[in-house]
Amino acid sequence: MSPFNLETCARPNILALEPYRCARDDYKDDGTNVLLDANENAYGPSLGPSAIAATSSSGSGPEIDLLGLHRYPDPHQRDLKQLVCNLRNTHHHTEKKITPDNMFVGVGSDEAIDALLRCFCVPAQDRILVCPPTYGMYSVSAQVNDVGLVKVPLLPAPSFELDVEKVNQTLSSEKNIKLIYLCSPGNPTGSLIAKGDIRKVLEHPTWNGIVVVDEAYIDFSPEGASLAEWVAEWPNLVVMQTLSKAFGMAGIRLGVAFASAPIAHLLNNLKAPYNISSPTSALASYVFSDEGQSTMRANRGKIVAQRERLLRELPKIKGVGRLRGGTESNFLLFEMLNAEAKPDNVTALKVYETLAENKGVVVRFRGKEHGCLGCLRITVGTEEEVTRFLKALEKTLAEVNGHTIEVSKDEDKKETEASSVIA
Ligand SMILES: *Cc1c(COP(=O)(O)O)cnc(C)c1O
Repeated sequence: MSPFNLETCARPNILALEPYRCARDDYKDDGTNVLLDANENAYGPSLGPSAIAATSSSGSGPEIDLLGLHRYPDPHQRDLKQLVCNLRNTHHHTEKKITPDNMFVGVGSDEAIDALLRCFCVPAQDRILVCPPTYGMYSVSAQVNDVGLVKVPLLPAPSFELDVEKVNQTLSSEKNIKLIYLCSPGNPTGSLIAKGDIRKVLEHPTWNGIVVVDEAYIDFSPEGASLAEWVAEWPNLVVMQTLSKAFGMAGIRLGVAFASAPIAHLLNNLKAPYNISSPTSALASYVFSDEGQSTMRANRGKIVAQRERLLRELPKIKGVGRLRGGTESNFLLFEMLNAEAKPDNVTALKVYETLAENKGVVVRFRGKEHGCLGCLRITVGTEEEVTRFLKALEKTLAEVNGHTIEVSKDEDKKETEASSVIA
């Protein structure tokens, strides 16, 4: 028997919560009703003809119902949730199916991260467990909610595996840990966490808490890697995903959480009723259409090709050290070396600043994160962007470390050809 018990794990005030109800929960709108229940403006949105012309499609792109924007959006989003379920019911991990009852949708995964904290953690009493190096929002959101942090670092690079023995010991010995946030693939590690390790935490013999797996980058990982549908098998597993990364929709702010129906129910009770705007919902539905899916797969293919190219080209640049972590995301974590060929934060920070200030290329300095000494996190861009980045990095490292660039034979030849053309 799993020691998990929602009635003692969730906060009592959340369990007792009567969710906000709108009149349209009682009386479904069939489009013919006169809607005088929500103090909306029946004369319509304050959008003049030029705003409408500027924002509506030219006939080919997605139609967003601009003229319907004076109405509140759907608080439940069941149609959108069904589309997400259709995508994630892959039967790689269970024969069971997840349904809209297993889902929460929020303003990015950031809302789900926060909602879980508010659902389970009593401020100034309960704590969460995180495994550095990891995504910064777990600790920021914990701090906002006055929830303490317990850290069990991942095993050293390059594997960045979960230290599952230490995690489970900590869950036994430390009091009041309600949630563990696992990032898979990790940010900034780019490594998937082994399913067997997640299972070991889920099978903890005494811990009454929730395992949250953040799959923000899962669509860059091998087919079948997502554990979303696995929530049908575990009462205390939550899986988060987002449209901000592989789907290229960071601007609409849509994140989802999959959970057992009772947990999803609590999260839906505590959220603001109209958290998902109608344009966000409409655009998200396009993403889950066949066309949206094939566009995602095509763009992902291009990103993976550029990721492979970075993996080939970066080690050839003098001053670039080892790849740390995995290759299961749309970014890579690489060491920057000093003139003594040692990974070094002063060098990495200087490279980071020089790239941004003098070369117009912005990457992320991660050298202060646990086990990431001297590391930059590089997002995989377009072919042109990667070309520009590689050139800029080579020059910058030469400047920072005071060495000259060795021109390879190929490039030598190209340059001679180019100069002979000019000549
Ligand atoms: C980018 C990212 C997210 C996405 O957050 P949104 O609020 O959905 O944009 C979530 N988790 C991790 C680990 C990320 O790197």
